[in-house]
Amino acid sequence: MSAEVRPESPAATLVLDGCTVVTMDGNGAEYATGHVVITGNLIAAVGPGSPPPEMLAGAVGGGLSSAVGTVRTVDASGCLATPGLINTHHHLYQWGTRGMAADATLFEWLTELYPVWARMDADIVRPLATAALCWLARSGCSTTMDHHYVYPRSGGGVLAATIDAAQHVGLRFHPTRGSMDLGASSGGLPPDDVVEDRDAILLASKDAIDRCHDDSPHSMLRIGLAPCSPFSVTAELLTETAELARQVGVRLHTHLAETADENDYCAERFGCTPVEYLDSLGWLGEDVWLAHAVHLDDTAIGRLAATGTGVAHCPSSNGRLGAGICRTRDLLAAGVHVGLGVDGAASSEESSLVGEVRQATLTARAAGGPQAMSVRQALRLATMGGARLLGRDQQTGSLEAGKLADIALWRLDTLPHAGIADPVAALVLGARPPLELLLVNGQPVVERDQLVTVDEQQVTADARRASASLVTAG
Ligand SMILES: [Zn+2]
Repeated sequence: MSAEVRPESPAATLVLDGCTVVTMDGNGAEYATGHVVITGNLIAAVGPGSPPPEMLAGAVGGGLSSAVGTVRTVDASGCLATPGLINTHHHLYQWGTRGMAADATLFEWLTELYPVWARMDADIVRPLATAALCWLARSGCSTTMDHHYVYPRSGGGVLAATIDAAQHVGLRFHPTRGSMDLGASSGGLPPDDVVEDRDAILLASKDAIDRCHDDSPHSMLRIGLAPCSPFSVTAELLTETAELARQVGVRLHTHLAETADENDYCAERFGCTPVEYLDSLGWLGEDVWLAHAVHLDDTAIGRLAATGTGVAHCPSSNGRLGAGICRTRDLLAAGVHVGLGVDGAASSEESSLVGEVRQATLTARAAGGPQAMSVRQALRLATMGGARLLGRDQQTGSLEAGKLADIALWRLDTLPHAGIADPVAALVLGARPPLELLLVNGQPVVERDQLVTVDEQQVTADARRASASLVTAG
């Protein structure tokens, strides 16, 4: 455990008592009946049985509302405690354009949706991002990235709107300043009116970092840079974005090798594979993670492993768009860092992160047999795997003393899970369990499947209204 995470201030202690604990630490420690003690925004202790008596001084048990002094004890029997899940690829604004181009390929889907997205502005993005973040929280997600790459000229502060939304809902947030500068008239896929000028992109990227990026260990907000894809950005933008990111120490992200069409595009335009293209631009490294990476040959997998480049695996979106099946087993065997992403809701309408753990398991096995991914491997992708991609593995992704208190508590003692002995199999293969509690930075965001930071009915109404104004405005 890193010594860099320190409590921000003395604070109340919360005890989760009597739950099964799956830590996802380096040893894979699990406790059939155990405890997690939280002080302020940090995990103070994790272990088997009941917590050490000195941590319970003054406490009286008896359920969620029980509290005496500065210690509150939760009777967590019947529940499973896991690290909060970490989402490594998303486009929050897409919540309002779900269900469109429902039977299309990626390029057909994008071509239909770009003109709709071109009508976005900050007042539309804010409620849609809020809704997407709320649903992520309801599915056990404590940390998410966002890849926002559409900046209409009259759209206002759309990136700021997503940041407002994340602060409102209470999730740890890693938004990326995305970009597109290769319009159709220059050989790109997006129409010219949704791409930006390269200098403007770089200025806005620097501005977002200067204004918002918090590099501290407790950070709730870190910015990354994310040109969209080889078929929507220029080589110059990729190169200059990487230079900027490395000057200021933020991470890099893009879509890559999502479909066979993209591989064909790269072969025709650049005379190489997508991974070779990125490699030629200095775009592989420990500070880079790539969404999808479905269509990779063995050489490409070897380069990702050798350079420490990560992969955000998005199996539901890949299935929805018929893009193909990511070679997760081969990536993991080669030592590539892999996390999970729900991807934008317009190509992944369910957008549940715990659902994505299940989907990753089933997809890997459909392609490679029942040994291709274990339920614990899949849960690790969504926890430590994701933390690694976002550069937060010293601070979150596992339940260990000293780490940030980002914790999901799943109820496994109701009908859907009665009769499944292994709690991880119940979580990953069974029905989606009730989420008894989601803590982010020690603060409750979900209790008993209800958001406690926002009014879900209001969020629903606002999202419906924003979606209607976006979809019908054309
Ligand atoms: Zn995406």
